[in-house]
Amino acid sequence: MSDGFHGLCPICGLLARSCRGARSGTLDRLHKQLNASMALFVQKYGGTSVGSPERIQHVARRVARFVAQGHQVVVVVSAMSGETNRLISLAKSVSSQPDPRELDVMLSTGEQVSIALVAMAIMELGIKARSYTGRQAQILTDSVHTRARIVEIDRVNLRADLDAGYVVVVAGFQGVDDSGNITTLGRGGSDTTGVALAAALNADECQIYTDVDGVYTTDPRVVPEARRLKTITFEEMLEMASLGSKVLQIRSVEFAGNYRVKLRVLSSFQDEGEGTLITFEEGPDMEKAVISGIAFNRDEAKITLLGVPDRPGIAYQILGPIGDANIDVDMIVQNVSHDGLTDFSFTVHRSDFHQAMEILKSADAHIKSRGVMGDDKIAKVSVVGVGMRSHAGIASTAFRTLAEEGINIQMISTSEIKISIVIDEKYVELAVRGLHKAFDLEQGA
Ligand code: ADP
Ligand code: ASP
Ligand code: MG
Repeated sequence: MSDGFHGLCPICGLLARSCRGARSGTLDRLHKQLNASMALFVQKYGGTSVGSPERIQHVARRVARFVAQGHQVVVVVSAMSGETNRLISLAKSVSSQPDPRELDVMLSTGEQVSIALVAMAIMELGIKARSYTGRQAQILTDSVHTRARIVEIDRVNLRADLDAGYVVVVAGFQGVDDSGNITTLGRGGSDTTGVALAAALNADECQIYTDVDGVYTTDPRVVPEARRLKTITFEEMLEMASLGSKVLQIRSVEFAGNYRVKLRVLSSFQDEGEGTLITFEEGPDMEKAVISGIAFNRDEAKITLLGVPDRPGIAYQILGPIGDANIDVDMIVQNVSHDGLTDFSFTVHRSDFHQAMEILKSADAHIKSRGVMGDDKIAKVSVVGVGMRSHAGIASTAFRTLAEEGINIQMISTSEIKISIVIDEKYVELAVRGLHKAFDLEQGA
């Protein structure tokens, strides 16, 4: 007896009974696509990945491969490499403190150039594509210029284009507020656009294509022996990103966590490779390392008030005016007091250092400390790993390593899965390399 689905499909050579094309009677080349289960991918390409016409054509060819497999693709792109920096210095050449609204109008042009070029390159391969600025894609943000947060995305337009067979190319890093002003999402913000779109469109996977082939145990440009992680937990990635690993913008990781987006970091320079998957559980196949990585951040500055009267409300008197100026404070250390006086130190982002110093000098008229000291040549090095929860001795290994390298520790802060240490900036690389080795993170270790 024959049901018509025995033997091989004459078109694709698959077992006819498992060939969806043959079963549906679509006996042309199109049915190959039916065999691939259709998925929706959001692919974000960073600055280097779209840094030249050749790189853009490379991106177009990758997108075409996904389309040929029957998938729907939303492409999110950054400005071509160096462009955002160029635009910022151009603004600074006419204004010492560029107006944030105008800066956003200008910065958004970088991504606008990329989307059009990528769409053209895709069309050149015979595939339908359409570009969208943040406003056209209706990526609604709050009004905090230069570091706006995405509030909502209207998926209707994009969905309609995808269903009509278009590749949709969206400008990363930009949105629009409810008064129609152009906003940007902070440096590295295209990652967040990618993940937010993946969440809004319920994509099967958000792929972040960059110039390294995944998330490493530390920045591979600083430690060439760093090892790519096949998986990293969402919690660890959140710590790594917030502690300075700029491979993913922190808000993109937050978004992935809030909306359970399947997020993967891959290289746009390699055609093969599984990259690094951000996971939500520590499954049985997870690499069992206690420590997952070492992050570092050079953009820090420390401020110390010496001999502060140790009385209730003093921390508020010091940090209140800093908070009022929208300056984020990171680490805080208050020493044990002697004779009613104590030293109080905290760190801020280096770009806020001068403003914070000015504020404190005026607040000190009331605080009456013995002096305000600042150091904008510090850095923070952090050891991150969920395994810390169940392993003792991580801190002592870190401190011993720095002691052996002769590096003085200025401040320490810990959480369940990280230890952060503030040191002199000039020792960052030495510290990162030493810690990376001490925790056996190298390739083949
Ligand atoms: P893109 O332009 O594609 O967004 P970024 O420069 O923002 O790329 O991020 C990729 C860079 O992140 C890498 O080139 C690498 O130097 C740096 N990086 C820092 N820490 C890590 C890490 N732990 N793993 C991988 N890359 C890292
Ligand atoms: N072009 C922006 C930047 O350089 C956004 C991004 O690349 O993600 O920060
Ligand atoms: Mg980036």
